[in-house]
Amino acid sequence: MPAYVGLGSNLDDPAAQLAMALEALAALPDTRLVALSGRYHNPPMGPQDQPDYLNAVAGLLTRLPAEALLAALQGIEDAQGRRREGPRWGPRTVDLDLLAYGNTRIESDALTLPHPGICSRPFVLVPLAEVAPGLHLPDGQSVAALAAAADATGLRREEP
Ligand code: ADP
Ligand code: MG
Repeated sequence: MPAYVGLGSNLDDPAAQLAMALEALAALPDTRLVALSGRYHNPPMGPQDQPDYLNAVAGLLTRLPAEALLAALQGIEDAQGRRREGPRWGPRTVDLDLLAYGNTRIESDALTLPHPGICSRPFVLVPLAEVAPGLHLPDGQSVAALAAAADATGLRREEP
């Protein structure tokens, strides 16, 4: 199954946090890391008294079920010292969101697919469109079109 993971960090050396998380994604069982966007600097969403974020999107091919993949992502967050107390949208060492899992739609307590933030978050749409320009959400919306229409003010792609 093709799956897309959004990565974000704004604590404890974000570039190193993203690199560590990518290594862990590449090491997941029954999973291959097949695509990686550039890294984007981005002002924080929510509370403004926190450092800027570094965001990226990874493309996976996986045989893990969606729930198991989410659990694995949370395991990586925990391993990198993610603390779950604190304000919503507060600073974090690493945040791994399962953006899309094939064309699956789920709405359970633990998992919503596609991730509900995709359409409103330029820092997700722009790197997602970079790795999957032909992707359509289950409701038919084109990710490339959404990204082109997104207000990317403040979003800055890191030079390679
Ligand atoms: P956020 O990413 O919105 O800042 P968290 O990373 O703290 O918030 O995630 C909060 C909860 O969101 C988790 O407990 C997880 O079960 C739930 N969740 C639901 N759908 C998803 C998804 N597609 N990807 C990641 N987490 C999800
Ligand atoms: Mg999250």
